[in-house]
Amino acid sequence: MTLPSGPSADQWAAAVAAVRSVGADDEVLLICHVNPDGDALGSMLGFGLGLRRLGFTRVHATFPGEFTVPGPYTEMPGLDLLVPEAEAFADPRLVLVFDVASESRLGGLAGRLAAPRSVVLDHHASNAGFGGVRLVDPDAAATSVVADELLSRLGVPLDTGIAECFYIALATDTGSFRFDMTTPAVHELAARLIATGIRPGDISRRIFDSGPFGAMKLTGEVLGRAVLDESAAGGRGMVWTWATLDDLDRHGQPPYVLDTLIDPVRRVAEADVAVVVKQTGAAEWSVSMRSKGAVDVSAVAMTQGGGGHRLAAGFTGHGEARDVVDTVRRLLDLHLT
Ligand code: 5GP
Ligand code: MN
Repeated sequence: MTLPSGPSADQWAAAVAAVRSVGADDEVLLICHVNPDGDALGSMLGFGLGLRRLGFTRVHATFPGEFTVPGPYTEMPGLDLLVPEAEAFADPRLVLVFDVASESRLGGLAGRLAAPRSVVLDHHASNAGFGGVRLVDPDAAATSVVADELLSRLGVPLDTGIAECFYIALATDTGSFRFDMTTPAVHELAARLIATGIRPGDISRRIFDSGPFGAMKLTGEVLGRAVLDESAAGGRGMVWTWATLDDLDRHGQPPYVLDTLIDPVRRVAEADVAVVVKQTGAAEWSVSMRSKGAVDVSAVAMTQGGGGHRLAAGFTGHGEARDVVDTVRRLLDLHLT
């Protein structure tokens, strides 16, 4: 098997040409994945602000599904580019897609890939390979690393708005510069972003260290019911918990407050694998998985139609929470590294 690698010189050139081929008054549509996170929104909006600096006047940014911007990101620069899926340009000249590993994550917007020009910016090793020009770099810590490179090749200088978006993307996807992909290049990019004058302390407080009281109570309850299964994952252990729509209702919280619930769960020292199963419908669950190295959870997710990275991945599960977890437990043993 050959190792995946980043975009080729031809692909970068094709992406630059695709952007330069459209007029400043042509419609440009930016799309990120359903239930957007910091990297999806940050890479998309930062790039959108860059297009504005290039003189583009008609830029829409959107994502499929429920049109809610998670609380931590409601002050992100560039939010004025954002429009609900139903209002997004129906027939844009150019489409750019951010942080989307598979077309299914584009929901009803997948058809927009048929635009005359499309460019996919991503960093998922599981990227299925869709769209016109593919800028997929599995070694990039965040999609914003790819977006920054493309802006720089287009000759757009960083400003504080672009920098704040890209910084949020980089900080969220590297777990605040803690994960393995936090390379010298990541710190060099962070340094360039901070040099524009953005305030990392304020940004971190907003996106990581702030949330409603109800979210804390909900988290407490969901963590309180976690289960440790030390025999799972070939004896390396799995810790898991679940949250229902009723849990959200009782605490008056929107679903996105559960996006970071995996973090306290994956801290458990007795387990290599952490799993959080979050109800999204009558018998539908959004499954988040993390591994410390014993299992390729991206491979597990891909068998279920999902994807992600080797140590962080997810998919949509069906049935009862317990059935979904049983399936994961069985698959872990098949994907030990
Ligand atoms: P999280 O657990 O934080 O939601 O997601 C972890 C990683 O898995 C992210 O890189 C995310 O893009 C990916 N991921 C999560 N859910 C899905 C899914 O349903 N399909 C795909 N293709 N990737 C997913
Ligand atoms: Mn990402």
